[in-house]
Amino acid sequence: MKIYMVSACLLGIETRYDGKSKLNKDVLRLCENNICVPFCPEQLGGLPTPRPPCYFIGGDGRSVIEKKAKIVEKESKIDRTLNFIRGAEESLKIAKIVKPDKVIFKDGSPSCGVNRVDIEGIKRKGCGVTCALFEKEGYEVVGYG
Ligand code: SF4
Repeated sequence: MKIYMVSACLLGIETRYDGKSKLNKDVLRLCENNICVPFCPEQLGGLPTPRPPCYFIGGDGRSVIEKKAKIVEKESKIDRTLNFIRGAEESLKIAKIVKPDKVIFKDGSPSCGVNRVDIEGIKRKGCGVTCALFEKEGYEVVGYG
């Protein structure tokens, strides 16, 4: 039996910016015979649900960790970078307790993205802030749609 941390929305939990989930049946099935710990970095970072959608300016999650990019609300342009960093750090605290074999992230998200994220309104190659921090700390990560 393996231990996985999983983006909560992939398990049908309504944590997304639009107040909905993004249930992935393959991920749910994986949790039948393994231990899965759901988490949502954006809620852990103090953001409400639902919440205004955000995107990157100046780079992806790795650039945010290096303080070279930021994350803003798409419409208002309010800077939410600190919420996203806090969410990544709080998620890492969970990982240090849980010691997951792998972290299963929802791809495309500014927190959880693994292969692609929204940078200034365009889907580009890159990862979210929490994914970037987890990779930096040596965790194995995988992205699901
Ligand atoms: S931050 Fe991650 S877990 Fe939370 S809703 Fe977005 S993709 Fe899902």
